[in-house]
Amino acid sequence: MILEIVQYGHPVLRERCKRVEQVDDAIRILADDMLETMYDANGVGLAAPQVGVAIRLAVIDVAHDPDCISFLKVDGKDAPLASIMPLKFINPELEFIAPKERDTEGCLSIQDLRAEVNRPAAVKATLPQLDGSVLVIETDGLLARAIQHETDHLNGVLFTDRVSPAMKISLRRKLRRLAEDG
Ligand code: ZN
Repeated sequence: MILEIVQYGHPVLRERCKRVEQVDDAIRILADDMLETMYDANGVGLAAPQVGVAIRLAVIDVAHDPDCISFLKVDGKDAPLASIMPLKFINPELEFIAPKERDTEGCLSIQDLRAEVNRPAAVKATLPQLDGSVLVIETDGLLARAIQHETDHLNGVLFTDRVSPAMKISLRRKLRRLAEDG
């Protein structure tokens, strides 16, 4: 089922989301609906608060572009990107393993706005899966960026919070308008 994507200005996007303590059918269905919603909107990631549910659950799929990362290790071993896509995870834990790098980001909850964001270029991510297993990956590129962007959502942080001070000023009016429309 395609869900409504909450837009900038909605308070749920600013909530610190609750940990998922137990995965039940409702959560499994929500994760699948989030993936369907994300594909329908041509996104590469979606976090539960973006569909109005303040829990630590997110989905990602960057398999459309195998060159969007330069490496991927799963449990310390090289692995193909397609082997872990799409990703559905709860309660992510991140370690940053490379210096920051600037790249353009957008967000399905902030329509028509893209901006450069500085983030660590690679991460080690511990991503508990819905089946109780735990996926530990190290990667860079778009996948590292998407994992950080979605984890930010679970903490009520939006990519527009992370742009340079100069960019923040230039985005201010546009964001205010979005918040009023939302
Ligand atoms: Zn987003």
